[in-house]
Amino acid sequence: MADGLSKEYPMGEEVVYALRQASFEVHVGAFVALMGPSGSGKSTLMHLLGCLDTPTAGHYFLHGRDVTHLSQQARAEVRNRHIGFVFQSFNLLSRLSTLENVMLPLQYRRTHRDGRHNERVLAQVALSQVGLESRANHKPTELSGGQRQRVAIARALVTDPALILADEPTGNLDSSTGAEILNLLVTLNDNGRTIILVTHDAQVANNAQTILTMHDGRIVDGLPHLNKSNRDK
Ligand code: ADP
Ligand code: MG
Repeated sequence: MADGLSKEYPMGEEVVYALRQASFEVHVGAFVALMGPSGSGKSTLMHLLGCLDTPTAGHYFLHGRDVTHLSQQARAEVRNRHIGFVFQSFNLLSRLSTLENVMLPLQYRRTHRDGRHNERVLAQVALSQVGLESRANHKPTELSGGQRQRVAIARALVTDPALILADEPTGNLDSSTGAEILNLLVTLNDNGRTIILVTHDAQVANNAQTILTMHDGRIVDGLPHLNKSNRDK
């Protein structure tokens, strides 16, 4: 999946080595937790895995396809088809209703075969998967933090992605609300979706089969099966 992935940011005369030579494979249906101190490169790696950004070196294969050097437009299509992203700060649009927020990824699709009615139905299904069908017409500002994150998860789910990337999704939530969000991610994993989760909480990470630990841009622990020749995932 990741083969020598590296990311450098030029900072004036200096260069920040945000990610150094990350190589690992994530099997379909796996649950991987990513840990490490602040600034160790977790978000940088998640952005690369989410095709939100491109690496300065290395390769990234998603379901066997080399997606390393795709154009911005092509990466947007890969994201829309295969990847759901959940952020710490929810990133919902406050002027839209819950349902409209969840519908957004469907509207970014280039083909509109499904039509608006179908988009609403798909968004309602996604909202019911997170237990919020009764909040469809509420604005995000009328919801609690935990509910907002569930809306964000519904938005990630609406395109039926195989891979869910969650960057500290419980970071802004109290521990019992965070546990609900975690349970939701565990259920999605039980249903066959691949989950990669960034967390500072060792208890949260213990729900994962694999815990990768990062330090100063390197993956320093958790790679029992590092195998660079196997790129088909
Ligand atoms: P984490 O998510 O583990 O806290 P990040 O991936 O956000 O770490 O950051 C890793 C390093 O890269 C940090 O030193 C950070 O300051 C730097 N960095 C991240 N994004 C940028 C950017 N867009 N421009 C410059 N430096 C960045
Ligand atoms: Mg981060």
